[in-house]
Amino acid sequence: MPDPIRLLSTDLDGTLIDFRPGLPAEPSFFERVEAARARGAEAGLPFIWTINTGRWWQSLSAELLARAFPLAPDWVILTEREIYRIHNGRALAEYGWNRRCAEAHRELFAVAAPFWQELREFVESQTGAELLPDPGSPVALRARTDHEADRVSQFAETRLGEWPGLAIVRNGVYLRFCHSDYDKGSCLRHLQEIVGIPPQATLAAGDHYNDLPMLTRRSAHWLVCPGNAIEPVRSVVLAQGGYAAGQNFAAGVVEGWDALLAQAGAEPLVGEVAAWE
Ligand SMILES: [Mg+2]
Repeated sequence: MPDPIRLLSTDLDGTLIDFRPGLPAEPSFFERVEAARARGAEAGLPFIWTINTGRWWQSLSAELLARAFPLAPDWVILTEREIYRIHNGRALAEYGWNRRCAEAHRELFAVAAPFWQELREFVESQTGAELLPDPGSPVALRARTDHEADRVSQFAETRLGEWPGLAIVRNGVYLRFCHSDYDKGSCLRHLQEIVGIPPQATLAAGDHYNDLPMLTRRSAHWLVCPGNAIEPVRSVVLAQGGYAAGQNFAAGVVEGWDALLAQAGAEPLVGEVAAWE
């Protein structure tokens, strides 16, 4: 019987890795990926791991090196909107999707020019948030606190109705904007079409607001959040029959992956005893 989980989509920051810099990622996660790849190869049904992140390639690849990741993902979804296949350590663009994505953003961001002006004025006059240069979003910022990020987000939400298609991407105190057709969920669903693996065989793991679009049964039937996930993510995962781990970061992903396989009556990927017991 093939493994019930054949596509794994993991966020990086706060899901696979600790926020403290330089700490290596949890080795048991890579053991699971290696075991799943080996079992997939044996069954002639490749197992695929994608990192689904808000980072750019340069930043992602530098982080994976700094954390000494022993394995590379098969695919990466970058800046929550672009899809790349990893081949010999390089990221090869899924050109059609990425071109359509860039075009949709160019058009929408140009039309919404008055919104950017208004938002910048709000941020500069009403908050201490720092505006950040971001080639992928006309306004991007880092708030000083979660509360301040909430305030900016609430202000933006009152205006979004005027700009159909415009959406907020929130990750902790960071805020940026995107076209609502492009997020971690729609990218994951497009990747599923490319690789021929359905949501029924997909596990998604994430910790924050920007992961919510992939943490739905429309995108993945197997849902996991680590112990450090924010409460709204935990609630969404649990409400859909997913697994909210007790352990943090990658150890929590492993805990959830093992637990969901055990619930489904599938063979464990590594050993007989699950790692958290
Ligand atoms: Mg995260």
